[in-house]
Amino acid sequence: MDKIKDLQKMIDEVNNIVFFGGAGVSTDSGIKDFRGKDGLYKMKLKYPAEVMLSNTMFYNDPEEFYKFYKENLNSLDVLPNATHNYLTKLEKQGKLKAIVTQNIDGLHQKSGSKNVYEIHGSILKNHCLKCHKFFDGNYVFKSEGVPTCDECGGLIKPDVVLYGESLPDCFNEAIEKIINAQMLIIAGTSLTVEPASSLVNLFKGKYLVIINNEKTRYDYKANLVINDNLKKVFKELK
Ligand SMILES: [Zn+2]
Repeated sequence: MDKIKDLQKMIDEVNNIVFFGGAGVSTDSGIKDFRGKDGLYKMKLKYPAEVMLSNTMFYNDPEEFYKFYKENLNSLDVLPNATHNYLTKLEKQGKLKAIVTQNIDGLHQKSGSKNVYEIHGSILKNHCLKCHKFFDGNYVFKSEGVPTCDECGGLIKPDVVLYGESLPDCFNEAIEKIINAQMLIIAGTSLTVEPASSLVNLFKGKYLVIINNEKTRYDYKANLVINDNLKKVFKELK
């Protein structure tokens, strides 16, 4: 495909690439897309997913929160796919400076990537609200009911940005990386939700590439648009 050749040429030419990824990066690994047509938001629930995963639900009814959380967000056994693996390779070559992701599954790190900005947090990181002790994903997902701290008995909270919470400090660092990049590859997101959409406008570099299985409203700004399956595209790159 000619478009993949064009993408390859751009990647070969520059040395400061930033990748910004959405749910589509992980769906190839079998993770549900929150907003996709079979995603969590379309499930028949007592409350919508936005309510189940809100900080109000967490603090008012941690039992109900964790029931939903453990049933739907456990990706401990999920493996990275061709997209994650290609990005890891590109980082090792020194060309990829940062991965900014909206996903909370930790698959980029599992693949071996180091400079990952998880702007919605990660299910693999959890802290006791009382003494701040760290707990991994295993501890939380394998616990019975509401996970509590083995030191002080305090309630454990995932380092995941819940509805009603603001983005973590690493978001500002991610913006910095995007502003300074020569090339921005946006993939697996429809760019309809903030802050994803405003990030596009911050980019001032040479090549803006959008890879998504359907059109986005920022396609007109991009130097290259590929409407295809991500895994398929990244598999073909060298
Ligand atoms: Zn504690």
